[in-house]
Amino acid sequence: RKPILTVNNIQTHFPVKGSKKAVRAVDGIDLVVYEGETLGLVGESGCGKTTLGKSILQLIKPTGGEVIYEFEDGPKDLRKMSNRELDAARKEMQIVFQDPQSSLNPSFTIYQSMSDPLKKFGVKTKEERRKIVGDLLEEVNMQRDYMDRYPTEFSGGQRQRIGIARALSINPRLIVCDEAVSALDVSIQAQVLNLLNKLKEERNLTYIFISHDLSVIEYISDRIAVMYLGKIMEIADAEELYRSAVHPYTQALLSAIPVADIDYQKKRVLLEGDVPSPMNIPSGCRFHTRCKYCQDICKEKEPELKKYMVNGREHMVACHFSDEHFKKNGKSAEEVK
Ligand code: SF4
Repeated sequence: RKPILTVNNIQTHFPVKGSKKAVRAVDGIDLVVYEGETLGLVGESGCGKTTLGKSILQLIKPTGGEVIYEFEDGPKDLRKMSNRELDAARKEMQIVFQDPQSSLNPSFTIYQSMSDPLKKFGVKTKEERRKIVGDLLEEVNMQRDYMDRYPTEFSGGQRQRIGIARALSINPRLIVCDEAVSALDVSIQAQVLNLLNKLKEERNLTYIFISHDLSVIEYISDRIAVMYLGKIMEIADAEELYRSAVHPYTQALLSAIPVADIDYQKKRVLLEGDVPSPMNIPSGCRFHTRCKYCQDICKEKEPELKKYMVNGREHMVACHFSDEHFKKNGKSAEEVK
């Protein structure tokens, strides 16, 4: 597997007026995204996942760390690029928002909205641009002549498909989907997720898929990273994570998925208390105020995100007691130093 993106100790802190403290929305994250995969990023609202997605694309400027992107001519740290270089680099990476309205101006036709990025990246004639926009609309299962209509003439699902077509127009390799189906009805969600999967195969895309919805994340992701208060708590293959979550936070999060099985419901671990403020992150393990396995060490020492091999696959966990949790799951895990 070839990395397309490597994030080293990225931090995005926001100063708070009149206070020495900052909102530590992203608080030291290491992450590798491999070419051609869908990496799901999940966590409760306010955990920093959207800030992380935007910080990776430099739509919000991180306050520390490295964001190394593998360009065709070699790896480069996006944080060290000039604005001009970054503008050119945007061709490689795009974002699809929850609300496509934000990328579709209601007073512009679909063609006008979609031709902007094409113009910017050198498609000179109107004829060429109309041809590309028509092809893109067909690629997302819409009619070519929709390009002369306005966003308000479409349903939420159609607008999201147009938003996806717009993101694809300049042939990106990496797309961050930020709660891209969260505003849609469940039946429409499935259509858009299937479309994203089809496009990924056909165009060899890589997705970072951000969502608070565990069912959506399970459906779309190859690997999943679980985030809590600005940090990654666990990363594993989707199937492994849903079957054998190791981190107590992931276990509690997955317990919240509605299931019909009464025995399973009885075993549920409920998350107690509220998420602490990112301005006042607890000492030691930031999850310790809500963790039923908390010991003294957890209040003092922050656990590292350690890498283990489980049946030949990577599984990363940030918990002082990972070894015991692996054992409880009946897994033999070997730490990789
Ligand atoms: Fe819970 Fe301690 Fe593990 Fe944190 S380090 S998740 S508090 S057991």
